[in-house]
Amino acid sequence: MGKIIDGKALSAAVKDEARAKVEELEARFGRKPCLCVIIVGENPASQVYVRNKVKAAAYTGMDSRLIEMPADTTEETLLEQIKALNEDPAVDGVLVQLPLPKHIDEEKVIDAIAREKDVDGFHPGNVSGLWLGKDCIVPCTPAGVIRLIDSTGVSIQGKTAVVVGRSNIVGKPVAKLLLDRNATVVIAHSRTADLGAVTRLADILVVAVGKAGLVTGDMLKPGTVVIDVGMNRNAEGKLCGDVDFASCEPVASWITPVPGGVGPMTIAMLMQNTISCYLSRMQE
Ligand code: NDP
Repeated sequence: MGKIIDGKALSAAVKDEARAKVEELEARFGRKPCLCVIIVGENPASQVYVRNKVKAAAYTGMDSRLIEMPADTTEETLLEQIKALNEDPAVDGVLVQLPLPKHIDEEKVIDAIAREKDVDGFHPGNVSGLWLGKDCIVPCTPAGVIRLIDSTGVSIQGKTAVVVGRSNIVGKPVAKLLLDRNATVVIAHSRTADLGAVTRLADILVVAVGKAGLVTGDMLKPGTVVIDVGMNRNAEGKLCGDVDFASCEPVASWITPVPGGVGPMTIAMLMQNTISCYLSRMQE
């Protein structure tokens, strides 16, 4: 039977670490870290995410600002807002919640955030830093995935790790982080000919696709560690992952649930990234 990796408990521990650090930093530098979250429009899922991010920031004791802009905000206005935050010395982290309304070019917006305030780690300077092995802000979800694996006590080094999904925000950075930890990494995607044959190679399996129930128990090597990044709604409207938990849990050694796995960790790592941005700005 697979043991459950409790993302909620681990996230709480990481947020407590952040809370202690914020207190220490305020005493040392006379100022708290400050995270700014921008949301454009009224996407209900995005509204929940930003609310949770601001709530987590409040829990750690850092300052936060939520900037809500209407759905018809022009690209130019959004870019001006980002520029103002880039130039504001009191702001350490700037996050623009994605997706943006269709008339706004997401790439332009991501590029406009100052690299040193890019708490999401999506700026090209941080992406190239990750791939070149230089100092950088690591995207929150991939960083959370590694923390979840580490929490099991299973060593990553020398293991075969399979990542299903190759997006720029999850699949690719997770694969690079696993490679950095000396795993042998295989990346599967929508054109992979026989997904089960590939996933059965995995000692560590990370699934980030967005398709409920894609991975079933017969696709696992017994004893594998399964990290389910997927967030989907099933027919009853309930949140579920990409992994069929009922059939995979008996085969895996460790497995993350959805909800309560990767999701909470993403927010906890955002707190850590905000502190990292603050520290690098204070120590410049
Ligand atoms: P994308 O849609 O950007 O990427 C999905 C990836 O899955 C693509 O690389 C695609 O392949 C691959 N894929 C699609 N169908 C299949 C298939 N049948 N077999 C194998 N691979 C397939 O998604 P994201 O990476 O942004 O997100 C993935 C999931 O993770 C979503 O459910 C999202 O909601 C969730 N998520 C959760 C977060 C959290 O905090 N818990 C944070 C971010 C995302 P190809 O490249 O060939 O098209």
